[in-house]
Amino acid sequence: MLDKTKQNWRSQADDLDIESRAFIDGQYRDALAGETRATMSPGDGRKLADVANCGTEDADQAVKVARAAFESGVWSSMAPADRKMVLVRWSELIEDHGDEIALLECLDVGKPIADTTGVDVPSAARTIRWSGEAIDKVYDQISPAPADCLALVQRLPLGVVAAIVPWNFPLSTTAWKLAPSLATGNSVILKPASNTPLSALRIAGLASEAGLPDGVLQVLPGPGGSLGRHLALHNDIDGLTFTGSTEVGKQLMKYSGESNLKRTFLELGGKGPNIVFADSNLDKAATFAAIAVFYNGGQTCTAGTRLIVEESIRERFVEMVVAKSRNWMPGDPLDPTTTMGPMIDAGQLQTVADYVDIGQQEGASLVAGGHQIMADSGGSYHEPTIFDGVNNNMRIAQEEIFGPVMSVIGFKDAEQAVAIANDSIYGLAGAVWSNNINTAHKVAAAVRVGTMGINNYFGGDMTVPFGGFKQSGNGRDKSMHAFDDYTELKTTWIEFD
Ligand code: NAP
Repeated sequence: MLDKTKQNWRSQADDLDIESRAFIDGQYRDALAGETRATMSPGDGRKLADVANCGTEDADQAVKVARAAFESGVWSSMAPADRKMVLVRWSELIEDHGDEIALLECLDVGKPIADTTGVDVPSAARTIRWSGEAIDKVYDQISPAPADCLALVQRLPLGVVAAIVPWNFPLSTTAWKLAPSLATGNSVILKPASNTPLSALRIAGLASEAGLPDGVLQVLPGPGGSLGRHLALHNDIDGLTFTGSTEVGKQLMKYSGESNLKRTFLELGGKGPNIVFADSNLDKAATFAAIAVFYNGGQTCTAGTRLIVEESIRERFVEMVVAKSRNWMPGDPLDPTTTMGPMIDAGQLQTVADYVDIGQQEGASLVAGGHQIMADSGGSYHEPTIFDGVNNNMRIAQEEIFGPVMSVIGFKDAEQAVAIANDSIYGLAGAVWSNNINTAHKVAAAVRVGTMGINNYFGGDMTVPFGGFKQSGNGRDKSMHAFDDYTELKTTWIEFD
């Protein structure tokens, strides 16, 4: 894929036939009210498609269809080994159409084509295949009941599940939600972010082609504030799985309480602590400190935006990270050599600019970046930006900026490093760098996050759960633990005469 040039990708983009309709009951359809919303390319501001803008009436229809499919048992009662075959076939079709899907994701999100071909598409296919392959190896339980009884403990699908996902990793988060929810036999309604609906719409058709029965999966593009809210308040939806901001996550918990107490699992924001001790491999730590913040333009929930560095090396280490940050100057997402693309839109660019001002007003020193660039491109590009001399009380250390902005904070000893790391409303991910096994383990154990790296950042794969402590959420994506979010435990107690 990467032997293609920017021109090859541009001409493939010009020839793309983009599916822009909603997907309901195995068919692509316009929104019932006929409304559309334009989706734009963050790379150059071009319009990509007018996408169906679904409303509450589309949601009600999708719920009816999903409920009927669930009750029919066409998928929910299918043998796990047969569901596996459909999911594995679906993952193969995603791989077969890999270039097309990677291009859609690149255009719609502004992610570099090297990332969408190398990370997002393979990871989505792997997620779906892994969950499919796992589901016919899951056993239920028989409890240690008295001898004249038999007690079964089974995991059963929730029923109809709504999944609401964000714009920063649309394809990956879609796969993280759909793979375990479908593998466990649910019917699902997915609402992609309004900015980035295209990859989810495309892979829905491939699911049908792979043999997923009609009505089991619907994809409804539309506004979160109306369509998303309606799904979250719906009394005939049994489960809600969400990835997005902490603010909206809190709303969704309320909606669940105001409606039918649907099971609600949330993957939310973060302010990742990345702790570097003087005795670590400093060159590797500096490389990853830059990756941890600038990958995906900092629009990553797990981003290591707080670089917490031992004071004795801080000055030298910051110079090393500033040098590494130059590898992350933004470029055209269609160029295979680009490492960082644009911000998702002008609003996000403005948010980043506002935080750069706030950091300076708070007294932090701007040691790299700080400006919009490539304004002529029509996209919203921002330089990789580093603040040194940050105090953890500052807003740039406490609030999720969701852009390429790093805050460097000094520490004197391990205890202080842990205290700074844990002084956050978030607890999603972080890392510690040290060649002392005692320091590394003790610090990793004490930091309250769902995923902690030792001498790596962004480590992990499908075998481990992913999710947050504190206000970073309550659910877990990936691994067999994800199945828990989409199933109810049922006890059957049998007594013999
Ligand atoms: P967001 O504003 O919370 O939106 C996420 C999704 O929720 C979108 O589909 C949005 O629809 C929808 N939505 C908005 N308001 C809603 C409402 N009242 N009811 C129901 N749905 C509603 O988040 P975002 O800006 O797209 O994404 C960035 C956030 O996601 C960051 O905070 C980031 O940390 C977090 N994130 C977390 C993880 C994780 O796994 N922990 C992973 C990736 C991202 P519209 O698009 O129409 O607004």
